[in-house]
Amino acid sequence: MSQLKKSWVESANSPDTPFPLNNLPYGVFSVGDDEPRCGVAIGDMILDVAAAEELGLIEISDDPVFDVPFWNELMELGSDAWVALRSRLEQLLAEGSTERAAVEPLLVAQAGADLHMPFLVSEYTDFYAGRQHAANMGAILRGSPDLPANWLHIPIGYNGRASSVVVSGTDIHRPNGQRKAPDAEMPSFGPSARLDIELEMGAIVGKPSAFGQPITVDEADDMIFGYVLLNDWSARDIQGWEYQPLGPFQGKAFGTSISPWIVTASALEAFRAPTPKREKELLPYLSGSKDGLYDIDLQVLMQPEGADKASVVGETNYTRMYYSAAEQLCHHAIGGCAMNVGDLLGSGTISGPTKTEYGSLMEMSWAGREPFTLDTGETRTFIEDGDTLTLRGAAKGDGFQIGFGDCVGTILPAVNWPK
Ligand code: MN
Repeated sequence: MSQLKKSWVESANSPDTPFPLNNLPYGVFSVGDDEPRCGVAIGDMILDVAAAEELGLIEISDDPVFDVPFWNELMELGSDAWVALRSRLEQLLAEGSTERAAVEPLLVAQAGADLHMPFLVSEYTDFYAGRQHAANMGAILRGSPDLPANWLHIPIGYNGRASSVVVSGTDIHRPNGQRKAPDAEMPSFGPSARLDIELEMGAIVGKPSAFGQPITVDEADDMIFGYVLLNDWSARDIQGWEYQPLGPFQGKAFGTSISPWIVTASALEAFRAPTPKREKELLPYLSGSKDGLYDIDLQVLMQPEGADKASVVGETNYTRMYYSAAEQLCHHAIGGCAMNVGDLLGSGTISGPTKTEYGSLMEMSWAGREPFTLDTGETRTFIEDGDTLTLRGAAKGDGFQIGFGDCVGTILPAVNWPK
């Protein structure tokens, strides 16, 4: 078990901070009307790395890396630059650093900063790689928990929309769309009545693969720059009517929220964990040499409008996944699809074996048939207007944690349409 690395930023040494020196996650922030810029979270502060680069305290490349408000340019420099930046940041922020006097004026309080999208999303793909989630959805939708015939062999996915991805704190309108009750003659148009979340991890691709060229699982593992929490908001009634035979479309396209800090694969390295035992042997191209998952505790919280506190409605762990992000990325590229810097891969909904570990309201309320009760005494099946949903995650070390920062979204009423 790795130990806390101490920083001269006192708040970074607390066992409760998500952002000790061991973490150093990458975000984009602004204060007041200032332009957004790249920053690194440390304790309850943000180090303004754009300013640090301007002052010559950080020199990763001959050309500036942080003159833009996103982290893609660092990713494009490759893993030597990733390692160099991380070790330089540790040097600047470690307890006893000789450069403290130069760095301290570049710290900004997180409490006074707004956070923005930390990277430009090139493309977004979402998977369906949680075994319990797939079994639950089968039981709910098709009357049987049996997995589809391909499920234990292929990391099933669909191509989503980069334009749908927004940073934590962005409000989401309840979508309008087509839905059809099983016994209805015709579909109808209107606001989704079965609005849901999906608790997922998002993997960010930091190195490209060439068009026409497959990659191995180990190469895929090296291509992953970092991770965020990801809420794949889902309109179950719209999805249920549209999804056969080509998969989700409007039921998923109205918003996908990510947490604001990119937690690097390096920061998570000490928390690697194996994928579950294979029920069917995977084809050889899907095997790699490293443990592909990470031991990250995850929570879903729900807070009705006006309630003074949020209720924890689900708690699980990333190790509940059946397929790793590296396996998914390998499978994505295996036929020759080029992968690009800034590609975002959703893990699929993460659900554990018991009801308290479910990662969607569809499962928690068993398709609306079993309402659950919040700490406020209110009950829910699906999301109501004004509800705020939060995803929270952290890998727990000995006296420290690698946290992600909350992934928050509030649901606004549907847009009035047609006007
Ligand atoms: Mn999903």
